[in-house]
Amino acid sequence: MARETTIGEDKLIEHIRRRIPSAEGGLLRLGIGDDAAVLRPGPQIELVVTCDQSLEDVHFVAAVLPPEAIGYRALARATSDLAAMGARPQLFLLSLAIPAERMGRWLDRMLAGMARAARQFGLRLAGGDTAQSPPGNPKIGFDITVIGVVERGRAVYRSGARAGDAIFVSGRLGQAQLGLELVQRGLYRQRQWKRWLRPHYYPAICLELGQWLARRQLATAMMDISDGLSTDLHRLCRSGRVGARIFVSEIPCVAVPGELRERGMDALRLALHGGEDYGLLFTVRKSQIARIPRRYRGTALTRIGEIVGGRGVRLVNADGRSSPLAAQGWDHFAEVARRRVK
Ligand SMILES: [Mg+2]
Repeated sequence: MARETTIGEDKLIEHIRRRIPSAEGGLLRLGIGDDAAVLRPGPQIELVVTCDQSLEDVHFVAAVLPPEAIGYRALARATSDLAAMGARPQLFLLSLAIPAERMGRWLDRMLAGMARAARQFGLRLAGGDTAQSPPGNPKIGFDITVIGVVERGRAVYRSGARAGDAIFVSGRLGQAQLGLELVQRGLYRQRQWKRWLRPHYYPAICLELGQWLARRQLATAMMDISDGLSTDLHRLCRSGRVGARIFVSEIPCVAVPGELRERGMDALRLALHGGEDYGLLFTVRKSQIARIPRRYRGTALTRIGEIVGGRGVRLVNADGRSSPLAAQGWDHFAEVARRRVK
């Protein structure tokens, strides 16, 4: 163990470099090992850049999640924002804070999960930074910058929705939240719930779908659902200065097992307010709706409502009556405030 804790920064970087794809190519002219990376985009190419943090006890519970899942989802979360723009991922920068006691087998398992995500998403590691978390606060933290490319003018913004556009979502909503609540309630140890944890541990992101919608110019606005439909739809509407109506009967909710329903896991609540599914929320002009298939490469695409003039989001019930939908998804700063109040 002592040997593992004195690995040294250069050795650690070399260790990471050997495990995660990092060969130069594509956008990456000069990669890991120098003072900075050098990128070479083509003339008809735009770069799409995003960064994302994953902090222990804020974004994941290291005592529960397998290290592979922690590495995988840290990179998936960051890359999902590229999917939401319609961009093709190219490379990433990894800043890692890690305590000494996680430098051995834990690190290798985490890197194996991250490497799997990198290969799956077509990402190369271009560089980054490492630091040891202090013994007094031995937490893990990731800060990941991801860079992708998109054909000039084809990136899909949040702001493009107009009154009359149809609203679509991909996949089933609430699956990751169900997994998270199994963890929070301590049910994750029970065998029968194992497969329900997967969307929380290894979230699927919608890279091909995002790129397809962007290439065909089918989406007028797009974002990924990271903090919950209710919160993210408000963001999309605010950005486009429009309102929305969505229909309860159309929302593709997670199928909650009866036993969990009895414990208060309501499918509609999970679907409306649960975050981290990383499905895409996008809008489509009326004239283009027929071009949206029911499924794209196995993922369901569901029309859940429409963009309207004015402001706010309304939820229409089966009886036709509607009520305002409050943004009740994940909000860090509201959560912290709530905890302080307790
Ligand atoms: Mg996003």
